[in-house]
Amino acid sequence: MKWINRNDSEANFEDRRGKGRGKRNAAVGGLGAIVIAVIALLLGQNPFQAVEMVNSIAPGESTEVIDPSRVNENEELKVFTLGVFNSANDVWDEIFRTQMEQNYQRPTLVTFTDETVSECGGASAAVGPFYCPADQKMYIDLNFFHQLRSEFGARGDLAMAYVTAHEVGHHVQKLLGIIDQMNQYRGRISEADYNKLNVKLELQADFLAGVWVYHAQRLNIIQLEPGDLESAISATTAVGDDTIQKKSMGYTVPDSFTHGTAVQRTYWFRKGMESGDIRQGDTFNDPGLR
Ligand SMILES: [Zn+2]
Repeated sequence: MKWINRNDSEANFEDRRGKGRGKRNAAVGGLGAIVIAVIALLLGQNPFQAVEMVNSIAPGESTEVIDPSRVNENEELKVFTLGVFNSANDVWDEIFRTQMEQNYQRPTLVTFTDETVSECGGASAAVGPFYCPADQKMYIDLNFFHQLRSEFGARGDLAMAYVTAHEVGHHVQKLLGIIDQMNQYRGRISEADYNKLNVKLELQADFLAGVWVYHAQRLNIIQLEPGDLESAISATTAVGDDTIQKKSMGYTVPDSFTHGTAVQRTYWFRKGMESGDIRQGDTFNDPGLR
């Protein structure tokens, strides 16, 4: 995937890389730690253990601390992700204006390291990238992209771009009222039925990610290169519920699927990418592929 016109604006970007909740060792770092270490040495203790003990018993609230060595972590991935994020917003802004006569409100991209907080609760790198409808922000620990490559075996630019465009797709669903409609069903239908609805929501976000690819090319923002489609498909396959369950448990439990199978996710992404037509993305009524 080649950028022809990358939008590097940081207007809707919140950079929390390297910012964490103060574990006490950061708070008592520096001079305090040295003093404690010296005292510990005088007392014949292992100094590091002493510092640790002080940390664990120190009262008070945790403070926000900044780890300067990590504030620019994955800078290249940040530039890339911000480019995809901005271009997806540019594409949706145009589609909303020309096809829906609606104003598109841009979400915010938040990058973080290890853990952060959102209106939807605490976020850790372990949950992967996600969109929070309550604050209309998408959260990503950029280290996820290393995981995507090493653990999920999905490499290449379009694989990474798909992840970001999928989250922006959830924001589109929020603006169109689809997520709010979904929330009305929460707790009112069986878990298995709710999961089925959730699969449709996720497949639609995959479709919308594909729609972005189509229009980003049409608007001369990106140009696809050989291998890009395969790259994206390696990602939609890797994040299929069946692929993940088979890998982690050795078998699948279809009732517990929340995102769709590898075949379904690939089908909807491709459909969006090939048609670019939002009217073809009614995953709730169109059974598509099973
Ligand atoms: Zn999703």
